[in-house]
Amino acid sequence: MSRPAHDRADQPGIRLNINGQSVDAHEGMTLVEAAWQAGVPGITNVGCMEGVCGSCRVMMRRDRQVTVGLACQTFVENGLDVIFLPAASASRHFYDIADFKDSWDIHARFHGIFPEASRCRHCHGCVQSCPKDIKVEDGVALAASGRYREAGEIFFECVMCELCDVACPELIAPAHVGLFCRRVTAHFHLRPPNLISRIEELRKKREEADGNDKGEE
Ligand code: SF4
Ligand code: SF4
Repeated sequence: MSRPAHDRADQPGIRLNINGQSVDAHEGMTLVEAAWQAGVPGITNVGCMEGVCGSCRVMMRRDRQVTVGLACQTFVENGLDVIFLPAASASRHFYDIADFKDSWDIHARFHGIFPEASRCRHCHGCVQSCPKDIKVEDGVALAASGRYREAGEIFFECVMCELCDVACPELIAPAHVGLFCRRVTAHFHLRPPNLISRIEELRKKREEADGNDKGEE
């Protein structure tokens, strides 16, 4: 884990631009720390510092090269131009997993919900934009061929930053393909035995507590 921002005053100074504002920072700071320290407006409730929530999506420009990433896991650099990206718009792919009663029709349902998934043009945009190094393109291909469990495993570390969705020229919404795969896999499989036992334990305790409450009335 990186040192707190206030501990880095002894580090070399760095100047960069965040959301159009010139910001002074120190080597070793993340972009989100630099933005907070400089009081860049509009950057609040962003930055768990652990790269697990996906809400601090940024676009960065170094000379003529443009890349994307997460501000909590990207370090400051001299002359870097950074723009915090707004929250992604709602997915156009609608379904209610509770309506899925029969695992035999998942494939038809998937292609009904994600008709674009079979049109992947293998441009690698999703892979190049993913800050978690997920093999997004492979995940989409597996899902499109009906291998939902394997596809879901590929997306295991996905933080739903949706940078892959923004990068996809076919509007496949790979992040949501991954979420679908994880949901259907969980929906049609028994939960882990320790989780089942714990939930049963809690259910029994709740029943006992309800019984005691009634006895006292
Ligand atoms: S798969 Fe997509 S949504 Fe998930 S972490 Fe990678 S870029 Fe973000
Ligand atoms: S960005 Fe879209 S079209 Fe390109 S490889 Fe990824 S899923 Fe396929």
